[in-house]
Amino acid sequence: MSRRSFVATIPLVGLVLSSAVGAQAPAPAHRIGTLFQNVRIFDGKSGTLSAPMNVLVRGNTIEKITEGPISAAILDNPRVIDGGGRTLMPGLIDVHWHTMLVRPTPAALLTGDIGHLNLVAGAEATATLMRGFTTVRDLGGPAFGLKRAIDEGTVAGPRIFPSGAIITVTSGHGDFRQPFELPRILGAPQSRGEQTGAAMVADSPDEVRVRVREQLMLGASQIKLTAGGGVASPHSPLDVSTFTEAELRAAVEAAENWGTYVTVHAYTSDSIRRAIAAGVKCIEHGHLMDEPTAKLIAENGIWLSTQAFPDEMADAFPPGSFERAKAVEVFAGTDRTFALAKKYKIKTAFGTDILFSPGLAQRHGELLANLVHWYTPAETLGMATGTNAQLLALSGKRNPYPGKLGVVEEGALADLLLVDGDPIANIKLLEDPEKNLLVIMKDGRIYKNALGQ
Ligand SMILES: [Zn+2]
Repeated sequence: MSRRSFVATIPLVGLVLSSAVGAQAPAPAHRIGTLFQNVRIFDGKSGTLSAPMNVLVRGNTIEKITEGPISAAILDNPRVIDGGGRTLMPGLIDVHWHTMLVRPTPAALLTGDIGHLNLVAGAEATATLMRGFTTVRDLGGPAFGLKRAIDEGTVAGPRIFPSGAIITVTSGHGDFRQPFELPRILGAPQSRGEQTGAAMVADSPDEVRVRVREQLMLGASQIKLTAGGGVASPHSPLDVSTFTEAELRAAVEAAENWGTYVTVHAYTSDSIRRAIAAGVKCIEHGHLMDEPTAKLIAENGIWLSTQAFPDEMADAFPPGSFERAKAVEVFAGTDRTFALAKKYKIKTAFGTDILFSPGLAQRHGELLANLVHWYTPAETLGMATGTNAQLLALSGKRNPYPGKLGVVEEGALADLLLVDGDPIANIKLLEDPEKNLLVIMKDGRIYKNALGQ
């Protein structure tokens, strides 16, 4: 973070301290409005920038967008930002994120002190926001506490749509137990991964229902199951299908009774088809699917949340390891998967799934910009904003942040970035957020203002 942006966050610290001492705290800073003057808008939907506009933010909402002047006098104490013809765009959204798992190593996650892991995740959440990502959909990990700390203003970070624990089967993706921990005995203490809330093992429809309802009770906005094998887990080959259809359906029923949906981790055609048959609404990854399965996804209006994994991501696993070999196999499917998604016009969302790799997280914007191998810059930016927000809206009444995200329009939530340039003409601007994101606003509150206005 630059010195300037650090200075800009200091008032927040004061806010947090003052609101902690009791009911006499001053009005939150986000109630003071902001007037952006002379900005060209990428609205998260259309492929071009608008003519120069003025945008008024009141509270946490975009109140007015107009070519004509807006008088600063209509607000008591507005901040006025002269955009100088730069681009105002929606905050970025990553729909496959693991708030708690970005920075630790797998060993630290399973053996580390929970307090330390939370503080590390809080620091990463602040860094995530400073990269311009104002919302993440968390697809597994004990993120409820961090989400609460962010929402109450204790820690700066993105909005989090939490799934809570990943729900898996014995030996499935997310079961990090060691062989000596078997057999599981009902009533015996839970494994370490279950105790921390990172992942839960469930081996029957009834057990699945319990685990799903527990995550919903904790505040999950959607439910994540692993329908097939995965890269990072030690006992799950890629080709396996894990949950039975009845087990998947039990999860779908429990989630839908609660007004939300299930998304599944699935690479293979078999695991994807079984999930669709059970009523799952979103597929994570899909890197090993065949063409008829892509067609099935499209025909059923299922979302595909896939990733352009960079080859370096395999470096998280030791050379010669089972996990590394699986990573290589999956990554080889990336190009074909995006081609199929385009061919069948599958509803496709952007996410990164960065795990155990703080270095890669710093290249968050680069991973987004890499999508121009398959999409135009405007399509790429639309995917990471307006389109991703449509996927988030599947949470229905379990959406923790009611209101419109991912767009710049009157009435939408004010998650905004002021970009020093035109990201449609040069999407690489997002690769250096410290330099090129001049203003970062979330929920109407400014977290960075390098213009100093
Ligand atoms: Zn993941």
